[in-house]
Amino acid sequence: ATPTAMMVGTGVGASQGVLIKGGRALEFAHKVSCIVFDKTGTLTIGKPVVVNVKLMNTTVLEELLELTAATEVNSEHPVAKAIVEYAKQFKKEQNPLWPEAQEFISIPGHGVEAIVKNKKIIVGNKSLMMNNDIEIPREVEMFLVDAEGMAQTAVLVAIDRMVSGVVTVSDPLKPGTKEVISILKAMEVKSIMITGDNWGTANSIAKEVGIETIIAEAKPQQKAEEVKNLQTAGHTVAMVGDGINDSPALVAADVGMAIGAGTDIAIEAADIVLMKNDLQDVITAIHLSRKTFAKIR
Ligand code: ADP
Ligand code: MG
Repeated sequence: ATPTAMMVGTGVGASQGVLIKGGRALEFAHKVSCIVFDKTGTLTIGKPVVVNVKLMNTTVLEELLELTAATEVNSEHPVAKAIVEYAKQFKKEQNPLWPEAQEFISIPGHGVEAIVKNKKIIVGNKSLMMNNDIEIPREVEMFLVDAEGMAQTAVLVAIDRMVSGVVTVSDPLKPGTKEVISILKAMEVKSIMITGDNWGTANSIAKEVGIETIIAEAKPQQKAEEVKNLQTAGHTVAMVGDGINDSPALVAADVGMAIGAGTDIAIEAADIVLMKNDLQDVITAIHLSRKTFAKIR
């Protein structure tokens, strides 16, 4: 394409909220044969809400939520924010002071731990419990399967090494997600979902949107490796993501696309920024690229 055509393409993109950072991204977008989508905040809204709390043993709801919120208030994870928001309802004050959390640690991709009111609190997924040798009762196992089948993510809460409750959160799909995946399919572009969330929840979400290939329980580096594997297999790969977790994969991809509402690090790592946070603009970018580069042939 001529420099003028490129400027026109970039300009039209910008006017539609699709920021294309360089000529290379504009050129490669229409060659994309495979798109890797992050789940949380990309396919889904990214603001999970608590939908259910299961209490184990003789645990009292208010007590469980207070200890959990006191731990999670130190985390930036969307799941943590959902739990703290939910726990506030059971307090009189609008912005309650949670009990002090000591020795707080965050285990990326798994959860958080702290000591609150002299109790060891561990909040996170099943693998976090297993890594701590905490026994997961059968009743909880069954509850998890049900929650994951409904596309919810279950967060386990252990108090002094006993699973004392399970909080489930739901993060709905963005409107139009399903349509975008089906349009891409018609364009013969393969969609893949990659997530740090568990396989059960990931499978349910994928089924809802019509994505057939998924990778769950993925570490950030794994996301980038998957992009490279697809490239080795001959694909021109786009990655769409919003999180810090996604930035290595956004860099590795032929075309990295960041959700505008995403983290600064993801936006910096990407070649294209979708300012309207609308997945439909993945297709807008491909069309723009096609138009720009079709002219010179
Ligand atoms: P994602 O944001 O795609 O779900 P992450 O890698 O951030 O992936 O986290 C993977 C899983 O680890 C989450 O789905 C959740 O179950 C658990 N997790 C991570 N951080 C927290 C947290 N602060 N509190 C509870 N669970 C967490
Ligand atoms: Mg995300």
